[in-house]
Amino acid sequence: MQKYIYMDNAATTPVKKEVLEEMLPYFSENYGNPSSIYSLGSKSKVAVEKAREQVAKAIGADKKEIFFTAGGSESDNWAIKGVAYKNKSKGNHIITSKIEHHAVLHTCEYLEKQGFDVTYLDVDEDGLINLEDLEKAITDKTILISIMYANNEIGTIQPISEIGKIAKKRNIYFHTDAVQALGSIKIDVKDQNIDMLSLSGHKFYGPKGVGALYIRQGLKLDTLISGGGQERGKRAGTENVASIVGLGKAIELAYENLEENNEKLIKLRDKMIKDIEEKIPYVRLNGHRNKRLPGNVNFCFRFIEGESLLLSLDMVGVAGSSGSACTSGSLDPSHVLLSIGLPHEIAHGSLRLSLGSFNNEEEVDYVVENLVEIVDRLRKMSPLYDKFLEVK
Ligand SMILES: *Cc1c(COP(=O)(O)O)cnc(C)c1O
Repeated sequence: MQKYIYMDNAATTPVKKEVLEEMLPYFSENYGNPSSIYSLGSKSKVAVEKAREQVAKAIGADKKEIFFTAGGSESDNWAIKGVAYKNKSKGNHIITSKIEHHAVLHTCEYLEKQGFDVTYLDVDEDGLINLEDLEKAITDKTILISIMYANNEIGTIQPISEIGKIAKKRNIYFHTDAVQALGSIKIDVKDQNIDMLSLSGHKFYGPKGVGALYIRQGLKLDTLISGGGQERGKRAGTENVASIVGLGKAIELAYENLEENNEKLIKLRDKMIKDIEEKIPYVRLNGHRNKRLPGNVNFCFRFIEGESLLLSLDMVGVAGSSGSACTSGSLDPSHVLLSIGLPHEIAHGSLRLSLGSFNNEEEVDYVVENLVEIVDRLRKMSPLYDKFLEVK
């Protein structure tokens, strides 16, 4: 059988066995509705509340501050639209960055059509925002700062505690999309002055279609999903009990072994980066070299297309990504790579390999070995490379 090597853990992760085992009883056995008062219902209710506790503990929040949603996109939409609509009378200005996930960017663009003003902060060539730019962008109309914790494409980690301090000092709400950071970075919402935080189960070995929004106690925001009184009247809909249970277990596992997991991942990541830089010419590492997610490897390979790279890798049993999964299929290069200043033709040749708990050194070697051959072969077919060699 041909090997299959999965290195697209930033797009989604497999559900861990221990997580699945916790979930299974909540499909056909303990299927009660948590809102029902008979004992079958209370079993579900107890399970949901246990998961709420697990999520709260992982990020230093109180369980009353955790609200379950249908994933990272919903959490982002809720935080941003909810605060915007609730605070319309106070101001209409929102600050975010140019490299946010589309769940944040498209939500902000939608709000612009409704009369809100949005500042999209630039980032430097490593993908970091500038704190002075942030301070300068604040006006007396600013109601919300939304900056992602870590970028899904290039892995760069933002100075979240510093942003939290600025937001607190200026009395502005601070939301962070921590979907990629969760499970890889120690987070303390209180210490870091985070008012709202989005997370999603399937990025840390939990199920898809379930997430949470942390909302600091006392913060008022509009409801996105109206209906029944679930989630203390703030988010309607019968709870996705099994998935919530899985999310709770997955977050607990992630933080139980955080340091050990990270040590292993960082070692693999740095080996892969070093090997690629040593063995393949004309490459560029995208994202900050150290302020970077433990599993993120992202390179541009000059003179070739990311799509051809992906297809060739797939043929040798390797799953990676070019840009983010949401934009593949479109011909536009990633907004993140353009924002860190890469010209179109170079941004097109990008490859993200995101490592996870199930990868090992042997796999890294196999992928790099194949990459060397593939890049060489594709460049030999590239007219751009021919031209480059002629002038050189
Ligand atoms: C995956 C992702 C999302 C969207 O989460 P879903 O659960 O897939 O809706 C949002 N933000 C970031 C940074 C992500 O990586």
